[in-house]
Amino acid sequence: MSEPKRLSAPVAPGGTIGILGGGQLGRMLSLAAARLGLKTHIFSDEADAPAYQVCDTHTHAAYGERTALETFAKRCDAITFEFENVPAETVAIVAALSPTSPGARALKTAQDRFEEKSFVARLGLTTPDFQAVDSEQSARAAFATIAGPAVLKTRRMGYDGKGQAKVTSADQAAQAYAAFRGAPCILERFVKFDYEASVIAARAIDGQFAAYDPPENIHENHILRRSIVPSRLSRRGIEKAVSLARAIADALDYVGVFAVELFVSGDALMVNEIAPRVHNSGHWTIDACLVSQFEQHIRAVAGWPLGHPGRHSNAVMENIIGEEAEHWPAYAARGAALHLYGKPEIRPGRKMGHFTKLTPLS
Ligand code: AMP
Repeated sequence: MSEPKRLSAPVAPGGTIGILGGGQLGRMLSLAAARLGLKTHIFSDEADAPAYQVCDTHTHAAYGERTALETFAKRCDAITFEFENVPAETVAIVAALSPTSPGARALKTAQDRFEEKSFVARLGLTTPDFQAVDSEQSARAAFATIAGPAVLKTRRMGYDGKGQAKVTSADQAAQAYAAFRGAPCILERFVKFDYEASVIAARAIDGQFAAYDPPENIHENHILRRSIVPSRLSRRGIEKAVSLARAIADALDYVGVFAVELFVSGDALMVNEIAPRVHNSGHWTIDACLVSQFEQHIRAVAGWPLGHPGRHSNAVMENIIGEEAEHWPAYAARGAALHLYGKPEIRPGRKMGHFTKLTPLS
């Protein structure tokens, strides 16, 4: 396999950023790129991906189709992705032909919950206690070690609570493992946190770093309902949160925007998850900041200087989920910034859009 290609100069306006994935994140990345005079080329395995509606070019093909990937990569000046489960082989193919970020190391770490939590622990940061589980027997043993309520999670491909089960006994841990049909898992202590927060930050190729004010995040049925800025974190808490995010990004030699999801109990911060991409809890930055997380990500992968992450308003971002989207006239009549993702079909639990209420800082 060839070495990944490096960016030798910033991608100038008129250039093309390739994006693997065509969901709402790819769509909002395309819109942000357009504001900077950059074109986007979306590569997705979906026939009617929402990002196709707003990009310059798209390729509809499977993520394993080498020829389609190579043709795509040759037409792009830099490449990124909007979801972390892009197959490693797909990234290796495009990265050999066009500078691709974040790189393979960040992806490999974030794709596997055991690797991710082990990496975070090696940096000296706190995570919920966790154990690898690869059999019903090890599920029982892990439960005995954790000795209390726990969450069994598949190591790979879980999101929005999919591939997760709360367990309160060794029997339940073994049953949950069996229900995941032998997929490798981790068992994690169930944490009684005060609230959840996240750091949305960006790192540039030269190591420049910029973090937004961390939002407080409220989940319902494992799906993000609302992000509120400012959060309840104290000034010291914000400093700690941002500095742990920076340590993670530096250790991964990360390029682009990423999120670190945190559990907060008093002054203590625990790392739940790293998302190597723009993140739902950063959507408020579109309306409350001069430079949104989407523009920041495009700037980083295109080799541009990062923008200032300051905000001009306090913000509450709320997701529009599933059939709530049918009430679009009511959302449109509210005094909030409305974003609808152009998804052709409403499905339960599907993120259809969001709106952000702003309170300008005086
Ligand atoms: P995750 O997919 O790991 O981000 O989990 C989704 C959501 O489930 C989190 O945002 C939390 O609300 C909840 N959750 C996940 N892991 C734990 C845990 N170990 N203890 C308590 N709640 C958790």
